[in-house]
Amino acid sequence: MGRIRNWFENRRVDSALDTTQKDHSLLRGFTQTDSFGEQLDTLPEMNERETAQMLLRGLGLVRYAKGLFAAKWVMSAAMVIPGLFLGWFGKIITDHIILGVPLVADEVNFPPHMLPILRAVEGREPMEIMLFLVVITVIGLFLIGTRAGGTGAGLYQGRDNASRAENAISTGGSGAGGIWGIIEYYIDVRLTQRIVNGVRKHLFSRLIRSNMTTLDDQRVGDRLYRVLYDTPMLYTCITELTFSPFFVLVNVGLTLYQIWYTYGHMQEALYMVLCVLMFPVVLLATLPFAKHIRRVSQNQRAAGSAATNAMEETMDNITAVQSLGGMEQEKQRFSKRSAHTYWRERLNVAVWVGMGLLIEIVAWPIGFFLAWVVAVKVIEGEMTVGDFFALFGLFMGLRGNFQGMGRLWINLQDQAAAARRIFFFIDYPVDGDGEGGASELPEIRDGITLDDVSFTYPGGQTVLKDIDLEIQMNNVVAFVGPTGAGKTSLAYLIPGFLRPSEGTIRVDGLDLSDVSTDSLRDQVAYVFQEHMLFSESIRSNLLIANPNATQEQMLEALQTASCMDFINELPDGIDTVLGRSGDTLSVGQQQRLCIARGLVRDAKVLILDEPTAALDPQTENLLVHSLRDLARDRIVIVIAHRLSTIRRADRIVFLENGEIRDHGSHDELMAREDSPYRRFVELQGG
Ligand code: ATP
Ligand code: MG
Repeated sequence: MGRIRNWFENRRVDSALDTTQKDHSLLRGFTQTDSFGEQLDTLPEMNERETAQMLLRGLGLVRYAKGLFAAKWVMSAAMVIPGLFLGWFGKIITDHIILGVPLVADEVNFPPHMLPILRAVEGREPMEIMLFLVVITVIGLFLIGTRAGGTGAGLYQGRDNASRAENAISTGGSGAGGIWGIIEYYIDVRLTQRIVNGVRKHLFSRLIRSNMTTLDDQRVGDRLYRVLYDTPMLYTCITELTFSPFFVLVNVGLTLYQIWYTYGHMQEALYMVLCVLMFPVVLLATLPFAKHIRRVSQNQRAAGSAATNAMEETMDNITAVQSLGGMEQEKQRFSKRSAHTYWRERLNVAVWVGMGLLIEIVAWPIGFFLAWVVAVKVIEGEMTVGDFFALFGLFMGLRGNFQGMGRLWINLQDQAAAARRIFFFIDYPVDGDGEGGASELPEIRDGITLDDVSFTYPGGQTVLKDIDLEIQMNNVVAFVGPTGAGKTSLAYLIPGFLRPSEGTIRVDGLDLSDVSTDSLRDQVAYVFQEHMLFSESIRSNLLIANPNATQEQMLEALQTASCMDFINELPDGIDTVLGRSGDTLSVGQQQRLCIARGLVRDAKVLILDEPTAALDPQTENLLVHSLRDLARDRIVIVIAHRLSTIRRADRIVFLENGEIRDHGSHDELMAREDSPYRRFVELQGG
């Protein structure tokens, strides 16, 4: 809780969306981190250290698919091969085919891996050599393709996170072509899906265990966005951190080796090596951009989340929006968020394009310099025209590699931003870690005791103060009090939806903080104040509460909650499928069904939060009568406003401003002149 409070204290409440309307300066996004109405993940600013940590942590996700990862590694290595031959084939074609210089293996200047090929064509006619090279190239094309194109699904990539995420999961790909590329593509798709699926499942399992206060503070749209659009980026992070730098290094190493081996005897070889080494220096130029790109990415993802939130909230409250004539306002709210997302993206693209240009700007002078050095040597007769092509083959290969590398660091910033959003909620405390203990709660026999319990919401509102309370088995206990008194908050403490900020709760003498949350909740059925039904059949709605419920149990629960009269009218009875959140039923029917669902659970503690609010007096009467029977071998806690419900309880706990002001049976309390409960009842006209 302390951790959550800290987040709250650091909360930034400025509405970036409104300020953007006033300030369209392109640089604004580079200088300030915005807030998108987040309540939890509010300080997304990352420094280099955290970025590195996130990326390394992302790398650890390889554990979901070690075998496939190793296979992908082996397959990727094939892409080094074309780079070893293409430039040298150019030299053979120029010198020994076009210019017709006779080829003598021991006299020409080639790196050692070319020797078997040189021996095979030694002394042959130019056309025979050409045929030989064509055959080798065709076999190579068939097996692994060229360096120019790889294998992929051929899907076009949008710049938006949604389509990038989709592509990241389903396209896969290989730098190789040919048969090899197809096999690697297949492995890659499986690898991506295995990893993304692993992360998604893990994140989802954490999100659905979020505790009540987290659920109150995190919007649904944000959760969707994280699971759907942030997780796929982690796979790209893994490949880009491992394969790309490794193979670029291998390629640089091999290129230097080939240059040094072949031209090392000339002084000019040093210039050539320097040219190659210029490229890594260019990469340094991208470093200052990294921070900005990261911030833009973070904001862009947050803005995407905010747009999803706006969409989700409007759709969820669509009837309210329609009835209150808020359509125009909502449309504007959504388009503002949506426009903000695009604006962020434009900045991202600008830096991206700038980076590509920078590499080009450096590559061309280096290229010209190299051309000049080699041309002079060719004119002086120390190099052949073919050397010109061989060197340019090597050089162009490297340029492509480094162009990829330059973008890699920029890409990684976006992935780090996504990774942070995922790990934030993977690390965020949920029910069951830390707060509950490890021991199983045995079947409840005696009752629940609250000792000096206080509760403060993360926002700092203390809503329960010094609560001392004993609730015994076989009792119906009513929590009564004005609205906002803390009745629901008090009831939430029992199944551990909320944990006391101070004091202890014991069940049969066992401290709840030592008991596992699952084993506690197994014994509590909570019927919420808001009706929460699923758009499934009535039967499925009941089975969610107790998958082992028999038909008889279900019918009995439906009977007790007075559901049978309306269920019998429905076309498919208990198998009728409900509309969105149960909306095809009336509010009173939804409430009765929720009560039946609580009963089917057959738990030791049954908590009913305002069970009769939407019921007519007759239905209420039936339910209240059955409460007594329900409390046999159980604890029934009922939160209620209506006197007719309350007076039948064994004990009444009267709350006001988070404190217990009165405690006893209805008759006891009514008999006392100074009873706050009595005053409350009299004010209600009871
Ligand atoms: P009602 O009869 O209207 O259901 P209640 O007695 O059940 O009211 P609670 O829902 O327990 O009241 O709320 C008690 C107080 O706690 C209220 O003042 C409310 O504003 C505050 N509160 C409830 N939920 C939160 C939350 N998630 N964060 C901060 N404060 C909250
Ligand atoms: Mg309430």
